[in-house]
Amino acid sequence: MNSKRMKNLHPYVPGEQPEDRVYVKLNANENPYPPCPEVISSITGFVTSHPEKLGLYPDPDSRVLHEAIAGMLNRTGGVLARAVPEGKQCRPAEQDRIPFTVTPDMIYSGNGSDEVLSFVFYAFFDCGTKLVVPEFSYSFYPVYGGFYNIPLDPVKLNSDWTLDTVKMTAHEKRNKSGIIFANPNAPTGRGLTRSQVREMIRNTRSDKVFVVDEAYVDFGGESCIPLLAEFPNLVIVRTFSKSLCSAGMRLGYIVASPELVQAVTTVKNSLNHFPIDAVAQVAGTAACCNDAYYAGCAGKIAYEREKFSAFLTARGWNVLPSQTNFVFAEKPGIDGGAAYRKIKEQGILVRHFATKGIENYLRITIGTPEQMKKLCDAVEKITDC
Ligand SMILES: *Cc1c(COP(=O)(O)O)cnc(C)c1O
Repeated sequence: MNSKRMKNLHPYVPGEQPEDRVYVKLNANENPYPPCPEVISSITGFVTSHPEKLGLYPDPDSRVLHEAIAGMLNRTGGVLARAVPEGKQCRPAEQDRIPFTVTPDMIYSGNGSDEVLSFVFYAFFDCGTKLVVPEFSYSFYPVYGGFYNIPLDPVKLNSDWTLDTVKMTAHEKRNKSGIIFANPNAPTGRGLTRSQVREMIRNTRSDKVFVVDEAYVDFGGESCIPLLAEFPNLVIVRTFSKSLCSAGMRLGYIVASPELVQAVTTVKNSLNHFPIDAVAQVAGTAACCNDAYYAGCAGKIAYEREKFSAFLTARGWNVLPSQTNFVFAEKPGIDGGAAYRKIKEQGILVRHFATKGIENYLRITIGTPEQMKKLCDAVEKITDC
């Protein structure tokens, strides 16, 4: 009964969410902190003061939300962990300052960056031309490749797990295809500098879209938003799920030229003519008015990440330097699957990928100090197995 195209579907398998016992959940790169108080009061205020609005369609252009997102990007430079709080708002660290003003017409938002990415694939990548991706990157890219019939050209990483920028750009030129990667990358946690990405864009085709997925950049990477002034073919994808403590809200966005924003909007309007729901619009807008709160959360997570990385290193683990809210690590001589199970037995979930090449590594999300303490105790116990 199924259509032939169903054969191309290889759905994403998210980090497990078991309900048989309460685990400390460090397997899906969620943020352990709740959204800021203004998000909570905006949601309760909306449903109690304007219940009739739940019966109406939301603003199809998400105008207020896009203004709020643009404002937050301008005030933080797109990197919360380094932004300098001034009351509830921030000013960007010198190195993150954006040399122009991000305007609302440069923002498109959708139901999580996963949906946004799907529309980006549809809008900009052709069936039959091989899209360049890193060998190990976000595992949703191959899923969309299958969905849209876009073959992928995965390029091996360097031996230090950074992207092979020379090879990726050479393949993109040859394939005439476009390129997508996460920066910082997942599951490795390693990032490229903005000048490295600039060099890559210069060496790729200007008539194809260059997509940088910045899901984790707020935790200490370098944002490529400043490069939008130089490259009209650049698309930056970002999410509220990680640094804005809102994975449950499903809110993601792109920052790009108004022309590319329009193209993605056309795809969306061909599938569902309404955007994210009215409650998410209100909550997302409220989140963007308290940069300082989220900068504080990102700072705490970056601090715990460094502490935990040092803890593992001191116990003989190989830990990749991370610019994200997770670490990617292996203990030589210990099987990754076994380490994952030992930690799970002690009530903590981390992520293990059975994929060849990374099968001995664990991807461990950084939680609160209390969660990390439990994790360290659990790791101590497996260290000699
Ligand atoms: C988590 C993640 C996303 C998806 O985020 P949602 O907004 O929750 O859909 C996108 N890209 C990368 C690299 C991620 O790790």
